[in-house]
Amino acid sequence: GDTQNYFGIEESINELAQLADTAGLMVVGSTYQKLASPNPRTYIGSGKVSEIKSAIHALGVETVIFDDELSAGQLRNLEKAFGGDVRVCDRTALILDIFNQRAATHEASLQAIFLVALAQMEYQLPRLTKMWTHLERQAGGKVKGMGEKQIEVDKRILRNQIGILRKELETVRKHRKQYRNRRFSVPVPVVSLVGYTNAGKSTLLNQLTGANVLAEDKLFATLDPTTRRVQMKNGKEFLLTDTVGFIQKLPTTLVAAFRATLEEISESSLLVHVVDISHPLSEQQIDAVDKVLSELDVLSIPRLMVWNKVDKSSDPQKVRLEAEKRDDVICISALNGDGLPEFCNAVQEKLKDSMVWVEALLP
Ligand code: GDP
Repeated sequence: GDTQNYFGIEESINELAQLADTAGLMVVGSTYQKLASPNPRTYIGSGKVSEIKSAIHALGVETVIFDDELSAGQLRNLEKAFGGDVRVCDRTALILDIFNQRAATHEASLQAIFLVALAQMEYQLPRLTKMWTHLERQAGGKVKGMGEKQIEVDKRILRNQIGILRKELETVRKHRKQYRNRRFSVPVPVVSLVGYTNAGKSTLLNQLTGANVLAEDKLFATLDPTTRRVQMKNGKEFLLTDTVGFIQKLPTTLVAAFRATLEEISESSLLVHVVDISHPLSEQQIDAVDKVLSELDVLSIPRLMVWNKVDKSSDPQKVRLEAEKRDDVICISALNGDGLPEFCNAVQEKLKDSMVWVEALLP
């Protein structure tokens, strides 16, 4: 029951199921409960705990995922209550898992791999202490002090690793910055694609440039910004950058970790906000993206809104009419290429101001 998010409970849980699917899990059921405030020990009430426990046995469930972030104590108590080898985790851990899988199996950059590892460690650090205190208590005080020593060792190892990663990241970051500076010596405007995860950013980039950026119907297919040069028929060109997809309740450790990567966004001349208009929650997704953009403090950069997957929407004609009513929206279908010339023209129009600005700087 998170109160600050734009998504209803069921919608958020549906998305959680999609995340689980992306992580390679098979979802067998879901449930929720309305409480005035979460139970401090188990997050959900004891009746709900029993209900889920029965379902676990009936269905042979291996993992139970909660949509909100759980404390170390809640994780432990739930695991104990469910018994057996049932793994309990939360949305944050699941997203970190996905990022980790993606970093391992796809061509993520060194930077992305570091960022994910860093975010995972930072998630683990506060949860480590309690795990060991728990083991100590379980042993009935016989090993008093041992757990404590072990915590210190583990924490030191983790902190060391975090320190090393931070340093490595700083180096990678400097290289990127140098690369960007060099890029800026040629006055080609940079256009960044932003949007909810799965909106179609990679597909659009592929269509426009013939680059083979991974496009998959999975959440978070893109882990690393990819930049390509787009040449227009009139000879003008711009650089198009794909970015990490956003999502509601994006773990704060990840937002912080990816802030460096998202620096590219802050240096763009134009942000193209790609929306999956066929998605029933497109409006909430737009809000979620705007929220991250405002966290990144980039709302002052000119923006162009693109409604993608018009072909997939139930009433394409209605969508087009709706877009026409607003002068700041372009309808496209990145998959089959519909509307891409219009899209390029709109980008050019929007860029005109910044182009003038760039040309004024030239000798
Ligand atoms: P990203 O996460 O924003 O980079 O999204 P992707 O480019 O990976 O696309 C997510 C999924 O949506 C893929 O399965 C694409 O094939 C699909 N997709 C993208 N654009 C369109 C479109 O215009 N129409 C339809 N029907 N599907 C699309």
